Amino acid sequence: MLKESKGIRIEHVSKIYQDPKTGKDFKAVNDANIVIEPGKFVTLLGPSGCGKTTTLRMIAGFESPDEGEIYLGDEAINALTPNKRDTAMVFQSYALFPHYNVFDNVAYGLKLRKMDKDEIYKKVMDILDLVELSGMESRMTNQLSGGQQQRVALARALVVEPSVLLFDEPLSNLDAKLRVSMRTEIRRIQQRVGITAVYVTHDQSEAMALSDQIIIMNQGVVAQIGTPEEIYYHPQTQFVADFIGEANFLKGVLTQKNGDKGVLEVLGNKIEVENVENVGQDKECIMVMRPESVQISDAGQLPCTVQMSCFMGSYQEYHVNVGNQNVKITDFNPKHKKIYAEGEQAFIKFNPCDIHILEA
Ligand code: ATP
Repeated sequence: MLKESKGIRIEHVSKIYQDPKTGKDFKAVNDANIVIEPGKFVTLLGPSGCGKTTTLRMIAGFESPDEGEIYLGDEAINALTPNKRDTAMVFQSYALFPHYNVFDNVAYGLKLRKMDKDEIYKKVMDILDLVELSGMESRMTNQLSGGQQQRVALARALVVEPSVLLFDEPLSNLDAKLRVSMRTEIRRIQQRVGITAVYVTHDQSEAMALSDQIIIMNQGVVAQIGTPEEIYYHPQTQFVADFIGEANFLKGVLTQKNGDKGVLEVLGNKIEVENVENVGQDKECIMVMRPESVQISDAGQLPCTVQMSCFMGSYQEYHVNVGNQNVKITDFNPKHKKIYAEGEQAFIKFNPCDIHILEA
């Protein structure tokens, strides 16, 4: 239905703002290098203030980079105003016109382009069908639910046939249940249209559910870019591991190394590990263990003491001490398993291929 989508390249882009308190310059975005392939759904994810919205606004043209260049397809776009950029933004606040009905809200951008009336009618009706709002053309926007308003905002962005769709936390005003159903809708529509989408959120489950690629930002810097699986299973830093999902960190020293396998000394215990490509021999390192990939057992790699044992229905949650380091375990489907009580001695057990090792 739409024209060909375009990729985005962000090359050595920085944005400098003044800290209002100190008056000093700081880089809200610091030397960002990002490649977004055409037709992909990419999420900018990170804690508040990490620079995600600034990055999105630079792509849209509402802010201009102080360093570096942004390309849309092969075209350098730094000098273009937002309306010349072939991008459309869906805002958190929807930014609908309250005195217009649904049809006129969606038709607005087409009327600005002085498109023929019949053509406008056809395009608007097609897009309303796509976002499942057919029959609501004459409703005023204040007669719509939050989810419906967001669909109008999405339709309004899509109808002008941009090459790239930009989303600035579009679901934050919706309740939890609606957020989940709307994100599925957004993904469905994006895939159906095949448009490139860049989406800002600080909600990691939203990022996981929506994205082909996630860009994790931290203090203005791109910390990692990867598929949800790469980010979750192979975080490149402790920050990324901690930010996406839950993670346990155990310190050790890599005493032997042979390719991607090695031996790690943790609290006097020697344990076999994998995934040590990026760690040097005899270096201090950190084992990143997801709570669901660790088990509690009568025998295992490292002795532990149970600090907390709690039945949560679908899983038993344990907090155990390994030496003086705390490890959280989520043991799914515990109905027929041995349950360990607070104060008991046991072992933690894991498959070496499930553990990710980082240099400390
Ligand atoms: P959030 O999730 O809270 O929206 P964010 O990751 O989108 O955060 P940005 O809005 O990109 O973060 O802001 C990055 C940093 O730049 C923050 O420290 C913010 O306070 C600062 N900042 C943003 N806009 C301006 C501005 N116009 N002037 C000065 N500082 C700014």
